[in-house]
Amino acid sequence: MASGDETRVAIVGGGVAGIACAQSLVANGFGKRVDIYDQGSRGPGGRTSSSRPVEVNGETMAFDHGAQFFTADDPKFKAVCEELKAKGYVARWDGVFGTLNAFDGVFIPKRRVETAGPPRRDFFKLLTADEVLVGVPTNQALCEGLRALAGDDVTAHWHTTVTGLDRDASGKTWSVSGVNKRRLDEGQAGSKEKRLSGRNAAVVVCDVMAARKGTPGTCAVTGLPDSGDAANAWAAFANPKVPERVGLFSCMLAFDAAAPKPEFDAAVVTGSDVINLLVRDSSKPGRVKRKDGLERWVAVTTIEYAERTIASAPLTVDGEYNPQTAEYFANIEPGIVNEARRILGVACGDDDGEYPAPHHAKCQRWGAAYHSGAVGEGVPGGVCFFDMDAGFGMAGDFVQGPGVEAAWLSGEAAGRATVR
Ligand SMILES: Cc1cc2nc3c(=O)[nH]c(=O)nc-3n(C[C@H](O)[C@H](O)[C@H](O)COP(=O)(O)OP(=O)(O)OC[C@H]3O[C@@H](n4cnc5c(N)ncnc54)[C@H](O)[C@@H]3O)c2cc1C
Repeated sequence: MASGDETRVAIVGGGVAGIACAQSLVANGFGKRVDIYDQGSRGPGGRTSSSRPVEVNGETMAFDHGAQFFTADDPKFKAVCEELKAKGYVARWDGVFGTLNAFDGVFIPKRRVETAGPPRRDFFKLLTADEVLVGVPTNQALCEGLRALAGDDVTAHWHTTVTGLDRDASGKTWSVSGVNKRRLDEGQAGSKEKRLSGRNAAVVVCDVMAARKGTPGTCAVTGLPDSGDAANAWAAFANPKVPERVGLFSCMLAFDAAAPKPEFDAAVVTGSDVINLLVRDSSKPGRVKRKDGLERWVAVTTIEYAERTIASAPLTVDGEYNPQTAEYFANIEPGIVNEARRILGVACGDDDGEYPAPHHAKCQRWGAAYHSGAVGEGVPGGVCFFDMDAGFGMAGDFVQGPGVEAAWLSGEAAGRATVR
């Protein structure tokens, strides 16, 4: 990497990978300014962020609507999680976990769930781990904690979409341009685009969305060499099948305090062609206790359901991002809510599925919940792309494989590669 004045580093994306990259730069003695840009309006998190708070019965509530829980196997990530636990950002979740049959309501506790092999693609198997972790008071606290560990050399720019990365003619530095406060449904970059920073010795892109057209994060890169690792990786990732994205829907539900209580806190659901996971969000440690006692649940759909649904309600229309409006969900939400009620009813011994209607229900679409077939999937240690000559890197779960821990490992590796 170039030395001298041009030693700033810009990171695109403030999810687990982007913040791990920043933290790793600092921990490995980078000692100069690091800027993280993320288009999210409510701080760091990406797919670990919590939902926008909603008011129900005069009290606000938020849900973990993306990643539900995580584990730490790698010694470095484990050490970071221990530090975050000590500082109160992360906690161990000793819930009742297992598998639920959606036909007969039989619940098998986790000790009898098949545990072979490391949980990679199917991160719901993480529930069988010895220690299951969550952020406190929501999963977003994981990234807030990582951000706090990174310290003051890291400047965060939330609600800032990077739309252009330009390498100057000398090939030594990058400038970053983008748009402040753009709503995800506002379409692509327009006249409000401005230069955000210059003289960056390196840029690290921590979301594959940036490389792809028709996403809320689409970003133009100019000045990459015609060939080489960086140019090849950037060109390859423009293809939505490299690695293949896997979509999911999550549905946030709040039920009356008097509603029947299933015996589990999180269950992988079998036998439903709509729902794959049910999580009692309000049973996680450190969650806000409500006066009205509403129970918060999150249902995550099956991959097949998401594929079918996205086929008829696509992510893009005429090459433009298709926003997640009430109209978009009008024909989707009732089916997910009704199936969640049916399964909860069966789980509570009511075969007619007469589980009460929720006080609140809202769906979220995840066009790329995770990626299947990433080059680093299953590879021990951190995997990232970093082209020293170009000062250009890429990291995230699309490089390392699905899950919070994989994203952290990839980001951490990118920070180390950049300092080198
Ligand atoms: C419904 C669901 C359930 C899941 N459950 C689990 C689970 O239980 N356990 C588990 O371990 N994992 C789970 N995952 C997967 C896990 O959330 C991800 O693997 C991980 O969070 C990915 O982190 P990341 O940093 O690579 O990407 P992200 O979290 O996606 O971060 C990338 C960030 O970059 C931002 N960005 C993109 N382009 C731009 C741009 N041009 N300018 C500015 N910002 C930009 C994005 O907005 C985003 O905030 C789940 C995911 C989903 C969706």
